[in-house]
Amino acid sequence: MGDEKMYDVLVVGSANADLTVRVERRPGAGETVLGTDLVESAGGKGANQAAAAARLGARTALLAKVGDDAFGELLLAGQREAGTELRHVLVEAGARTGTAMIVVGPDGDNSIVVSPGANARLLPEDVEAARDVIAASAVVSLQLEVPPATVRAAAETARDAGARVVVNPSPAPDRLDTEVLTAADPLVVNEHEARHLTQLVDGTPEAWARALRDQGARSVVVTLGAEGALALEAGAGEAVAVPGVKAEAVDTTGAGDAFTGALAARLAAGASLAEAARFAVRVGAASVTRPGAQPSYPTLAELPPEPG
Ligand code: ADP
Repeated sequence: MGDEKMYDVLVVGSANADLTVRVERRPGAGETVLGTDLVESAGGKGANQAAAAARLGARTALLAKVGDDAFGELLLAGQREAGTELRHVLVEAGARTGTAMIVVGPDGDNSIVVSPGANARLLPEDVEAARDVIAASAVVSLQLEVPPATVRAAAETARDAGARVVVNPSPAPDRLDTEVLTAADPLVVNEHEARHLTQLVDGTPEAWARALRDQGARSVVVTLGAEGALALEAGAGEAVAVPGVKAEAVDTTGAGDAFTGALAARLAAGASLAEAARFAVRVGAASVTRPGAQPSYPTLAELPPEPG
């Protein structure tokens, strides 16, 4: 399926500079604390997912917007290193690149403030201008860190052009746009997003997947951290549970994005949803064994062997 297309995977989404400082104690309101040296790295869900797919060898492009500042350069360098096609990354003069200010506490938990910057300026007209690129992509992958109207335009354009649409509704919205939901094949959610979107606080992964398909998603994948994932195909009576792959977890930042990028890459290669999820679980597991998001993403050669 990917062979006649220009791209296996086109990611339409965000690019952020992740600015991380570790602290021994979180500051309260009006308080100042000292932290470690600042670490800058390329992040944002769109850029992460593109980097994951590209590093695995998929022909990948990213439609995103950055500013003409040093953080924009950092993002471009990250994509270049991963092998992503950069010609659809729009650089807006005078805009600031999106940033995520991340404070890591002693317990390893993150507190994050995101300044969307140029991500907020990725508009439906940018999607319209990329119509031919969308039509020339086997899989179009979407998240929710760019304006909702932009995500909706990308979902509609991709669906109308016959591209397969992967939707990762993150950060979890209170309500997912119907056009976006019904284009999702699959909708990829983690446990938090599944609970939030279904309101089934005590549900099982299978119950979440069914509820989300009942809401309109064509197919659903629920990621379950160290436990792996669950895949519910369009029309399938039963979900397929994909067991986790054991990994020495060092840093789980961006694991979900590694999973989604890998899933998109495998779907573009013609795999079934369960096969693609099995592959993506191995990629997610590999990503947690190294620090950071994009720098932790494996090539095919670095993947752990298939279990069993
Ligand atoms: P998110 O990062 O969005 O919270 P998950 O925590 O579900 O998503 O992780 C996504 C994928 O990353 C999982 O399906 C799994 O493949 C892998 N993963 C995450 N944490 C671990 C872990 N501790 N050990 C092994 N694999 C992991």
